[in-house]
Amino acid sequence: MKQPKVNIPLLPEVLARKELYSSAKPTIIGLTREELHEKLLKIGTEPKDVKMRLNQVWRWIYQKGITNFESMHNISKPYRSLLNDHFHIRRLKISEKLISSDGTKKYLLSLDGCNEIEAVYIPEKNRGTLCISSQVGCTLNCSFCHTGTQKLVRNLSAAEIVGQVLTIKDDLNDWNPNAKPKLDKRIISNIVLMGMGEPLYNYDSVKDALHIIMDNEGIALSKKRITLSTSGVVPQIEKVGNEIGCLLAISFHATTDSIRDKLVPINKKWNIQTLLTSLRNYPKLSNSHRITFEYVMLKNINDSDEDARRLVQLISGIPAKINLIPFNPWPETLYQRSTRKRIDAFATIVNRAGYASPVRLPRGEDIMAACGQLKSASTKEKRLPKKPVEVQESQICRTNI
Ligand code: SAH
Ligand code: SF4
Repeated sequence: MKQPKVNIPLLPEVLARKELYSSAKPTIIGLTREELHEKLLKIGTEPKDVKMRLNQVWRWIYQKGITNFESMHNISKPYRSLLNDHFHIRRLKISEKLISSDGTKKYLLSLDGCNEIEAVYIPEKNRGTLCISSQVGCTLNCSFCHTGTQKLVRNLSAAEIVGQVLTIKDDLNDWNPNAKPKLDKRIISNIVLMGMGEPLYNYDSVKDALHIIMDNEGIALSKKRITLSTSGVVPQIEKVGNEIGCLLAISFHATTDSIRDKLVPINKKWNIQTLLTSLRNYPKLSNSHRITFEYVMLKNINDSDEDARRLVQLISGIPAKINLIPFNPWPETLYQRSTRKRIDAFATIVNRAGYASPVRLPRGEDIMAACGQLKSASTKEKRLPKKPVEVQESQICRTNI
């Protein structure tokens, strides 16, 4: 017997999203050269032309920053329209932009109509650093970190990681349509993966995104201008050196396992000695390729002279610099920032042992944009109906990553 047609009620937010985001076309952003090569063949590009087409498209997107295929003037009209039939080049949507009194800009970026992440631009005298996110939320619950209070919602795709850079380059007018700009002319000269999330728990997308960002025919930021910060996902650390080659920062923060277990709970899985062994074996380690140890200064927790002495003993033999980060408070935290006097005393001990020990000036504190203050309102949603209208798979709030 024929079943009566049942209309599954749609969640109102899915309907709203459908309006905003429904599109049968995937983005062209975030595909590696190999993936793009394959896709261009798939849409009917002549095999003999595919290499040339790929180079043309790549330069338009990543060197010139265009946002529609129509502007690709050196490409024939029929091929532009073929590209347009299959892809889009849209940016992430800036839901909110806050500008600090020190010039720092914090962006709240909408990924898919239901998840948001934060990215921060920090202008300095000789450079401009963009801090980007790798996940919505974080699984790791470091007790002093605001992001850690937000559950992991999902990993970002390579398109969303690269998308942060493109979107903010647009906003800061950091494209030079005619040539590859020199580094000192760039508004974004450095990128740090120090926003929301643990980059090494989203390794493949982070790797693909960084290769796109470093590609010499595109955004062309050198690997020495990109720093990936990890809380210490030991099995992935060597891969960063071998497969990405960017600079590495370690969220160290304590000199005994008992304190580090509390501050950075991943320490229970890979403790201080295991982490240090992996760093001693880090490929290409040298004085010009030093590891940055990040050390958050928490009053009466990890900031004694004894801690400073233990720290330099622990890292002895590793080409390193130690970034002291005054704790940035957030609502409901029980931790307090160490006093300036204490931070200076700690820095002096580290410095006398031969390590650079800059104190990281808190930036964008008035807009909650400083290290560890980022958190979006995205939460895990209940699983959506099995077949939600025509919203694309990539646009659905995932619950299972
Ligand atoms: N998940 C990665 C990268 C993001 S955090 C990691 O943990 O390394 C970027 C840096 O900010 C890390 O060193 C982190 O420990 C530090 N941080 C987190 N919360 C902070 C806070 N409230 N004050 C100062 N630094 C903080
Ligand atoms: Fe996650 Fe890094 Fe924050 Fe720890 S410090 S909770 S790893 S974002």
